[in-house]
Amino acid sequence: MLKTQVAIIGGGPSGVLLALLLAQEGIAVTVLERASRVHVLARIRAGVLESTTVDLLHRAGVGERLGLEGKLHRGTGIAWGHEQTYLIDSYAATQRYFTTYGQTAIQEDLYAAAEARGLTIHFDVSDIEIDGLTDNPRIRCQIGQHTHTLACDFVAGCDGFHGISRQAIPNDILKTFERTYPFGWMGVLSETKPLDDIWYVHHADGFALASMRNPKLSRYYVQCPADDRLEDWSDDRFWETLLRRFPSHLAAQIETGPSIEKSIAPLRSFVAEPMRYGALFLVGDAAHIVPPTGAKGLNLACSDVYYLWRGLTQWYQEKDPHWLDAYSPTALTRVWKTVRFSWWLTNLLHCYPDQTPFDLKTQESELASITESPAGRQWFAEQYAGYPIEDWG
Ligand SMILES: Cc1cc2nc3c(=O)[nH]c(=O)nc-3n(C[C@H](O)[C@H](O)[C@H](O)COP(=O)(O)OP(=O)(O)OC[C@H]3O[C@@H](n4cnc5c(N)ncnc54)[C@H](O)[C@@H]3O)c2cc1C
Repeated sequence: MLKTQVAIIGGGPSGVLLALLLAQEGIAVTVLERASRVHVLARIRAGVLESTTVDLLHRAGVGERLGLEGKLHRGTGIAWGHEQTYLIDSYAATQRYFTTYGQTAIQEDLYAAAEARGLTIHFDVSDIEIDGLTDNPRIRCQIGQHTHTLACDFVAGCDGFHGISRQAIPNDILKTFERTYPFGWMGVLSETKPLDDIWYVHHADGFALASMRNPKLSRYYVQCPADDRLEDWSDDRFWETLLRRFPSHLAAQIETGPSIEKSIAPLRSFVAEPMRYGALFLVGDAAHIVPPTGAKGLNLACSDVYYLWRGLTQWYQEKDPHWLDAYSPTALTRVWKTVRFSWWLTNLLHCYPDQTPFDLKTQESELASITESPAGRQWFAEQYAGYPIEDWG
């Protein structure tokens, strides 16, 4: 039988970041990842990091390249129709920058650090089953040709929305809350120079977004019907839609080029409660999903990692369960605030299929409540820059 102290299911960003932080405290960890390393590294996802996420990556010793290549931003742009543009200076309101740096690069940095420090990450693991969560935690799984049993003290479920960890919580204990949206985001990654700032665009035909992953890699999105098919979106159709939705002075600055990745992401808000059952702790997308508007998913995963790292470290170093017991309520408080902000920003900036002129007028007045008052700008900036992490030590 294999043994470890903390078994981590899922080798995405939250799983490997947690593994590195715990290993720094001398805690034994084993990471079980269903996909291959190549597959995980090929996923194109997040790229906008709150300052606490950047700090946590530095604490884990994986901030060097991020420090060199990440781009600091003071704020973000909102464009409305073809006329109004606003740059909201969240730094002035919060004294916190945010950083653009791709999730793919973070994942590369995490794997490189894990390898350099000799951490055990098993890839291509299949048939994972979790048992004994209330008395004797065990994980059975298939690694290569062999079936193994892994004994552990705790299980961190870092296996994303489609993982199996959440299902290990009995149905009469687990509560879920969900909202799906009647649209998706058609995204294109291109090797073109990005705009200087991130721009969120409200247009009568639908939302659009200009973001970036590094100084030579742009990420653009346009709102599309939830059931659109990727094959119906040629590069030409994508660029034509994007440029039409942007105000002309910004559209003139957008460099177009061949897509190097294209995807359609559905939009969903989802929360599972509690985030702990016995020895199991859910972390990141395994417990919650937010629509990408506001770029909060990876940042929320990282605050969960912080709370769990704090709890497990206190448990192993002092045999004190205080922060472990506080994990689920503390993480969920921040999760719900962020879920609400992402839902609100999604509603502000998108066009619903059944939208009426009344809805548009209330969106316009909602925007004015942010842009026309210092208190409104402060409120928006605090949430966009990210809620503080409780007891950030
Ligand atoms: C298009 C898009 C854009 C986004 N943009 C942003 C952004 O700008 N900012 C932001 O903060 N967030 C963004 N997000 C969200 C962000 O990518 C996720 O919140 C983040 O990846 C969550 O990390 P995680 O480690 O919790 O889960 P995941 O990244 O999903 O990792 C889970 C891992 O577990 C593995 N796994 C799954 N099932 C099993 C199993 N049974 N056994 C073992 N392993 C398993 C998976 O292969 C995966 O490697 C975006 C997401 C998308 C889709």
